[in-house]
Amino acid sequence: MEFDRRSASRSSREEGLTRGNTRQPVYLDAQATTPCDPRVVEAMLPYFGDVFGNPHSEHAFGRAAADAVASARADVAALIGAEPREIVFTSGATESNNLAVKGAVRFLRGRRDHIVTVVTEHKCVLESVAALQREGASVTRVGVQRSGLIDLAAIDAAIGSRTALVSVMAVNNEIGVVQPIAEIGALCRQRGVLLHTDAAQAAGKIPLDVRVMSIDLMSISAHKLYGPKGIGALYVRRQPRVRLAPLLDGGAQERGFRSGTLPTPLIVGFGVACRIAREEMAAETARLSRLRQRLLDRLRSAIPDVRLNGDEKQRIAGNINVAFPGIDAEALLARLPDVALSTGSACSAAAVEPSYVLRALGMPDAEAAASVRIGLGRFTTDDDIDYAVDRLREEVGRLRADDGLAPAS
Ligand SMILES: *Cc1c(COP(=O)(O)O)cnc(C)c1O
Repeated sequence: MEFDRRSASRSSREEGLTRGNTRQPVYLDAQATTPCDPRVVEAMLPYFGDVFGNPHSEHAFGRAAADAVASARADVAALIGAEPREIVFTSGATESNNLAVKGAVRFLRGRRDHIVTVVTEHKCVLESVAALQREGASVTRVGVQRSGLIDLAAIDAAIGSRTALVSVMAVNNEIGVVQPIAEIGALCRQRGVLLHTDAAQAAGKIPLDVRVMSIDLMSISAHKLYGPKGIGALYVRRQPRVRLAPLLDGGAQERGFRSGTLPTPLIVGFGVACRIAREEMAAETARLSRLRQRLLDRLRSAIPDVRLNGDEKQRIAGNINVAFPGIDAEALLARLPDVALSTGSACSAAAVEPSYVLRALGMPDAEAAASVRIGLGRFTTDDDIDYAVDRLREEVGRLRADDGLAPAS
């Protein structure tokens, strides 16, 4: 098994030119998922073996698992400034978002029935909201500016006396822009409505504090921060208490919010991933910012008409989203089997439609269809960047040459 991507990158550097034929493609899709950190894998292993007890059992086997869960819960909580008992483990951010949005609105049914969200949210938020709308709720979907950022006044204007919940993502998964969550939190607190934030792309990447930012519900996912897939959390504020209608009926684990036996190995991995993210965030952000600048600088000199989508400053360090005017991004990616990139969110990648997020920025379809997301992460090297820019320059050049030769249609 190959756990050590750092050494994998080192050996690939030595192989140099043989890259395209014999080695793994360069991975530049850190917003789709991240590899498990080898330290996370190491920490999980005993919980697939000897420490197998049900963390809800009263005997010694159960207690050993429960102790590991408690310690991981503290690490997850610490990453976002929460108390351990405010953390509800789920299967990932999709479930957390469903639980937060449906749970909060269904609980308030009959008293408040209006939801405010944003057009650039992840599908699992938009679809949860659509499901509630079919159940009779009313919805305001606020647009974004050309930068991808939300105008605070638009949220303010959307909130009414029957608003139950505002749901705004912290960092967008396609364009990496960071929304002004603390300001939105202060506004929601002042207007007396709940704020949920999908922080799947933000947790472990930018500092988050649920108290300082006045957040009532926050979704996070382990596999976006170098933890395992299939585990996530919903922060549910305790004071004053946020109430939710649960999605699952059962043994009432996790304060009744989420029934089911906790997956100890995944939770242990999630905890270690959160601890590493917290300890290394400042240094890693600086490293990724430098790497992203190298990428942008080289890209701009290789392909001078390249355009950056989304705000240039208010964004996480590990993402750019760029348009190559006149290029069909799907055709470009098909020519780049050796570089793992994306044209948008992975879950809608099968659709031929240009990204709804880029469209929401007011981009014409042709420009949206010419856009590529490049995600940098913990194991991305200078070599990876340089290789990707070289290959992008080659293939953009070839596509444009082909275009020039082809008769106009
Ligand atoms: C990945 C992602 C999700 C879904 O998370 P899963 O843990 O894969 O279910 C939700 N929202 C955003 C912003 C994401 O990036």
